[in-house]
Amino acid sequence: MVDKMNLLEKNEFLVKHLISAGVLKTPRIIEAFKKTPRHLFVRKDYLSHAYDDIPLPTYLGQTISQPYTVAVMTEALNPKPGEKILELGAGSGYQAAIIGKCVGTKGKVITIELESSLAEISSKNVKKVKLKNVRVILGDGKEGYPKEAPYDKCIITAACDEIPKKVIEQVKTGGRIVAPVNNFIGQKLIVVDKISETEFKKEDLGSFVFVPLR
Ligand code: SAH
Repeated sequence: MVDKMNLLEKNEFLVKHLISAGVLKTPRIIEAFKKTPRHLFVRKDYLSHAYDDIPLPTYLGQTISQPYTVAVMTEALNPKPGEKILELGAGSGYQAAIIGKCVGTKGKVITIELESSLAEISSKNVKKVKLKNVRVILGDGKEGYPKEAPYDKCIITAACDEIPKKVIEQVKTGGRIVAPVNNFIGQKLIVVDKISETEFKKEDLGSFVFVPLR
């Protein structure tokens, strides 16, 4: 049996590792990682690897992202208390839960998942860390979720050829989108700031590997 106390200590170690690797910087985000133990989001048969800094299988060939990647993306998104955030690809719910902790009770996370089994699992997982401000929606993320729009920010956790048009429309002017985008050699993680309806500022965070947005 895996010792629960041991797992919580391992989460502290993982957080320290991400800080010393230079990816976790913001106190609010560090706190969110501490309050979101990854072992609650991984499959039972991978429990002993919950705190390895690697992606792990969820179901249906999908994955829970590597903690390093989750840290880079969360820092890039910089979710603040009270913000409303859209996520595409709920998966295990781990990334959504971390954002949920960052935006707090006055903020909200809407996360869309294409696979019903994963939507169910992620919905259960976020409840384990006592979050009421994270809502999992079963559907195609490419449509966004107009009912709750506009969003302050959006995070896409599966690689797309281009950021879906509807998602760009549903993000506020002054808002931000963090997404892995395919290019001819692989995938680049990009940060797009929506300056106006037609003007965008783009920053490239380098190469990462994601499952495809379908
Ligand atoms: N954020 C997740 C990791 C997501 S992996 C976590 O923290 O665990 C990418 C997820 O995107 C997979 O679960 C996959 O089923 C989902 N996905 C793929 N295409 C999608 C689409 N068009 N709309 C919504 N979800 C999609």
